[in-house]
Amino acid sequence: MSSTTRPDIRNIAIIAHVDHGKTTLVDHLLRQSGTFRENQVVAERIMDSNDLEREKGITIMAKNASVHWKGTKINIVDTPGHSDFGGEVERILSMVSGVLLLVDAAEGPLPQTRFVLKKALELHLVPIVVINKIDRSDARPEEVLDEILDLFIALGADYDQLHFPVIYAISKQGIARRSLVDDSMTLAPLFETIIDTIPGPKYDMENPFQMIITALGWSDYVGRIAIGRIHSGRVQVGDSVVLIHLDGSKEQQKITKMYSYEGVNQMPIESAESGEIIALSGFENVYISETISDSSNPVALPYVNIEEPTIAMYFCVNTSPFAGREGKHVTTPKLRDRLYRELRMNVALRVEDTDQADVFKVSGRGELQLAILIETMRREGYEFAVSKPEVLMKRDENGALLEPIEHVLVDVPDKHVGTVIEILGTRKGEMVNMTPQGDIIRAEFYVPARGLIGFRTEFLTSTRGEGIIHHTFHDFMPYKGLISGRTKGSMVSMENGTATGYSLESVQERGVLFIDPGMEIYEGMVVGENAREEDIQVNPCRAKHLTNMRASGSDGIIKLETPRKMSLEQYIEFIEDDELLEVSPVSIRVRKKILDTNMRLRAQKKQKALDEV
Ligand code: GDP
Repeated sequence: MSSTTRPDIRNIAIIAHVDHGKTTLVDHLLRQSGTFRENQVVAERIMDSNDLEREKGITIMAKNASVHWKGTKINIVDTPGHSDFGGEVERILSMVSGVLLLVDAAEGPLPQTRFVLKKALELHLVPIVVINKIDRSDARPEEVLDEILDLFIALGADYDQLHFPVIYAISKQGIARRSLVDDSMTLAPLFETIIDTIPGPKYDMENPFQMIITALGWSDYVGRIAIGRIHSGRVQVGDSVVLIHLDGSKEQQKITKMYSYEGVNQMPIESAESGEIIALSGFENVYISETISDSSNPVALPYVNIEEPTIAMYFCVNTSPFAGREGKHVTTPKLRDRLYRELRMNVALRVEDTDQADVFKVSGRGELQLAILIETMRREGYEFAVSKPEVLMKRDENGALLEPIEHVLVDVPDKHVGTVIEILGTRKGEMVNMTPQGDIIRAEFYVPARGLIGFRTEFLTSTRGEGIIHHTFHDFMPYKGLISGRTKGSMVSMENGTATGYSLESVQERGVLFIDPGMEIYEGMVVGENAREEDIQVNPCRAKHLTNMRASGSDGIIKLETPRKMSLEQYIEFIEDDELLEVSPVSIRVRKKILDTNMRLRAQKKQKALDEV
């Protein structure tokens, strides 16, 4: 078997923390590569992330682009930035031979990029380090370089990887330099470093056409788009090929449309060869990790295991009294279609029907992945309800219960580290490492995934927003025992109606409100958090009785505290087993599963009796 590398192509991925300058860098790579005609106005920044990515500070969907430099085509793929998308990261990286690690010269490497970098190093990809924003007045490029070196060592980089080339950049001005004293005013040193150090893709023309699908896209014009790197052989429009599904079944099909990346666009092409990253349309049933191959020799390529989900939530049709008021898509078939459609793109996700027709079990790699799905659906006009996340357990061969354990890494100012250790202790976390890095302490723990539900908010509060947390799946390990949940109960409305300032004033004495006066509420809706452990029933809708008597000492002015506003993730963390989150494009409400007060109290009594047995 002879296989060589292809000299005219480089496939690379960029690993960067949000805001370190990836978009700006790619933008200037495009301008200087001649991909845009001279003086052509580049109206929009390319590879720009969607709103949700900005808000969450991570890349959710990877996008591709390509640039040319002196006859070599450089395909650039974007990597998702969070460990919840671990499987996707690995598949995307399987398309490339090298990575650019882009790091802000002032901020240094941040834990969020650690996971992707680790995967890249494990896959023996060739790294290039780009220290960006060296023009910043607070830039500290030498120190940052040391930090990157420490990180590479910590992540187990091999000898060659540790000798990575370093480029210093001012992406904003399209400048890359080989050293801090170099006077280059263009990105040429970066282009050259990419071409000189990153090998071309494997070029195998002896074997027939084979390619594995590593990413899926969607276009309103052509529908489903399957993306991958051609493993071997040549393919052209009109070819008859076989799609090999993961279960081994095969489907014969013709190649009707094929594209390659030119700049940020997909351009139709007639043929392509081993090593090139291409996109195919017309394959309606293709899934990630499936192989498309020449019909003469239909053999599946080995693929990256799709990581097992660790957390599940139930998605239900909205049954609250407000159902259908705020959403565009509210019915069971709509909800079901949308969830199953997500599966086609999002392989780390599972969707299952349940014994209730209007309830679906959705499992994913973490709370964040599920929160992103919920938020995306909300923005698309869906209205539904979700349950408290639950962790997926397993049994070993002896029947012992195993639970998913996460590797948690926190960076916190030293004055807060004690609190964080204490909180993780109550969540059955075990500290495995602690290292000071200046005023910051970096601590590592093994924590049951169960214990992390709700932790993010508590962590941010207890570190006054100065802490950074990152977690990745570690292993399934024996069940660690009971973790006590939320310590405060809910304030539940007994009435349907409109909240009045008058009654909220007395309700707020018993806890923290989530609602404003004037808001419509229903029986069984949670209007706040009780100060004590148990739930209480409240009436937020009472109108002031007209009476001749004046309350002594009262001037009649209502004083209300500002209600607590929570993010979707905070809400997900807040809800209990007997509660649901009602999610619509307009609102997020917490409600009891059983809305009727008497029925709920009876059910709670029964449950308590059962718990005591
Ligand atoms: P991304 O989130 O990684 O895609 O980052 P962007 O490309 O959007 O850049 C984030 C911010 O950093 C923007 O305000 C850029 O203008 C700025 N930026 C990018 N490169 C440089 C640079 O070399 N120097 C300075 N000072 N700012 C930069």
